This record gives sequence, structure tokens and C-alpha cells, in this order.
Amino acid sequence: MHELDHIMKITERPASLMVKGAGSWLWDRDGKRYLDFVQGWAVNSLGHSPRVVLDALAAQGSRLINCSPAYYNEPMARLAGLLAEASGLDQVYLCNSGAEANEGAIKLARKWGARHRDGAFEIITMHGSFHGRTLATMAASGKPGWDDLFPPKVHGFRKVPLGDLGAVAAAITSRTVAVMLEPIQGEAGVFSAGDDYLRALAALTKEHGLLLILDEIQTGIGRTGRFLGYQHAGISPDIVTVGKGIGGGVPLAALIASGAVSCFEYGDQGGTFGGNPLMAAVGCAVVETVGQPEFLETVASNGAYLMARLRGLSGELGLGEVRGRGLLQALALPAQDAKKVSAAALDHGLLINAPRPDALRFMPALTVSRDEIDEMLAILKTSLAA
Ligand code: PLP
Repeated sequence: MHELDHIMKITERPASLMVKGAGSWLWDRDGKRYLDFVQGWAVNSLGHSPRVVLDALAAQGSRLINCSPAYYNEPMARLAGLLAEASGLDQVYLCNSGAEANEGAIKLARKWGARHRDGAFEIITMHGSFHGRTLATMAASGKPGWDDLFPPKVHGFRKVPLGDLGAVAAAITSRTVAVMLEPIQGEAGVFSAGDDYLRALAALTKEHGLLLILDEIQTGIGRTGRFLGYQHAGISPDIVTVGKGIGGGVPLAALIASGAVSCFEYGDQGGTFGGNPLMAAVGCAVVETVGQPEFLETVASNGAYLMARLRGLSGELGLGEVRGRGLLQALALPAQDAKKVSAAALDHGLLINAPRPDALRFMPALTVSRDEIDEMLAILKTSLAA
């Protein structure tokens, strides 16, 4: 029997077994080094094993790891305050994964609909969207091929094409309670909703008395060069979810809502690990680091640099468009198999993700250097030739 045989096969993985990470670099058991532009799926916002995360883990770990969600703890209070301030919203529920935060957002919207909109429960979501892998978040997602999985499906979601305001307006009925979307669809291949569309959607939901829910699991916590992706559009959503990068690699996510919408009663929402002091302390360290204006400016300028370099490469080799914002970008490869390019890159020591057969996605650490971006481009060029 092979040592990996007991790991449930839920995704295709290369044979390499990863043992160590530092900054933008990851090493496997054979000592091979990889330049990491996947970073735990846009999770290691400060790179592998950053000092601030290690310090937060050590300091909090030696004080208090878990006191159960039945009691308040200091990091939980601090992180809730930081997220409320950064988002302009009021109430924060801490949890462990993006799917869990979105599941909470769906529950909160339904509860609010039951209370304030005559039992309205339907949520309008977008074709191509990705909100997680619980039953409700899968039903909310517009990922092709998911409609027939795991029946019976959680009902109450209506899908419209991203960017089509008229389709949203036409889908609104007396049963509608909210519109939910990602500012940039990351898993679909980095497709932006666009600031104008977000502004129009905010106006439309307001006009109809609906909630606007933004899934910022991938775009939040500095990824796009602002603390939250919707801040580029200058709108005020009712509910926001964050995850991935907020934990700097550890499992942490949050549901953030306006005071007017926060209508959970005791027992409606919870989870054993929600708001545990160890993860919350890490979240505070990450949010305090990423939230610095100079940090966000560097993400924006390095994002512009990455985009310029990718566009240069695309022009030189006759590849497709470069899209995205900040340090969440994609390069379209209309004439190549992106999965094969990603596999060739792995051989050449670069970790890069192909979210669809015709595009590569770039989601490096927010601390990535320009030298590392240059090095990535060089390896990518070799991998494209291979
Ligand atoms: N929402 C978005 C936009 C995501 O990109 C993801 C994960 O890729 C999720 C939700 C689900 O998050 P998690 O995998 O932490 O459950």
C-alpha cells in the first residue's frame, strides 16, 4: 500500500509532497523549489510562514487557544472591530471557511426576508459564480455542470448573466430577498463585475428594498489593491463575506453585515471553532498588516507591474487578453491547453493555476517582489514553449 492511499481522492494532485514554505517559495520532499503563484489558492496573503503570523500564533497559542464560542475572547473582539471599521458595516460573525461564511450570508438574508419582506427567500446569483461547496453554496454557485449534482438541490437561487443589469431587474419577484455576487469571479477565470455594474446593482437593490451580498472571499483583504474589492466602486453592500487571505494561511473567514440586517437570534448560527482566539489573533495580525495604506499601494503598483509584464508577454507570443485587478489576474490562452501549461510550469518549478482550459490565473502572495514577478515570467515563457 502506498503512503497516500488513505487520502480521499477529491482532486487531482501532482505526485510531489510539499514540506516547507517561505515567502513566495515552496519546497517538496525531494528538495525541489517552486515559485508559488497559487499560494494556497490565494490564501497565504503574506506568503508562506510570514513572521507576523508566526508571532501571532506563538503569542496567542501560549495564552489561550480555544475557550469555546460560548465565551467572548479578546482576539475575537479585536478582529470583529477591525473588520467592522474596514468594511463600514457593524456586525461580524467569525467562522472557518468561505463556504461557511457564505452559507451564513444566505441564512441571514433568508431570516431577514422572513422578518422584513413577507417571507421572501430567493437570491439572485450570477452564471459562472463560485460561492463554495456546501449544499446551499453549491446551489448558489453558477459553476457549469453543478446543477445536477447531489440532488435534491437547495432551491431558492435564480441565476443571471454577470454584467446584465436588465436580467437582474427581470428576475426580481416578490419572493426575491437579495442579489449575491463576487466583485471579480475568481474561480470562473477572473471575470470582473465592473465598478459601473456594481454601482448600478447597488442602486437597483436599494430601489427594490433588496439586500446586496458581496462574496469577497477571493477579492477581499487587499487582493485587488483596496482592502475590499467593492471599495473601488464606492458602494455600501448590506452583507460581505471574507475568507482565504484573512487567515494568512490558517482557516478563518467572516460574515460581516449591517446592523439593520443582523437579525440572527440565539441558536440560528454558530460552530465549535467560530471565533476561536488562535485563528482570530492571526486574523488581527493579517488585517493590521494588509490594511496599512502603503501595503495596499504596493499591492496596486505590483499588480500593475504584473499586468504590464503579462501583456508584454502576450503581445510577444500572440497570446490572449490579460484581465483582473491588483494581484488577482488571468492570462487567456485561446490557442493552448492551460492545464498542460500549468503542468509544464510545475516541472520547471513554478506553481500556477489553470481555472479553465483557456486561462492561467495568477494569485501570488501580496508581498511578492518585482524580482519574483520577473522570475515567474521567465519560467512561464519556458513553460509556454514546452
Ligand atoms: N467564494 C469564493 C469567491 C471563492 O473563491 C471561494 C473559494 O475558492 C469560496 C467562496 C469558498 O471558500 P472556501 O473554499 O474557503 O470554502
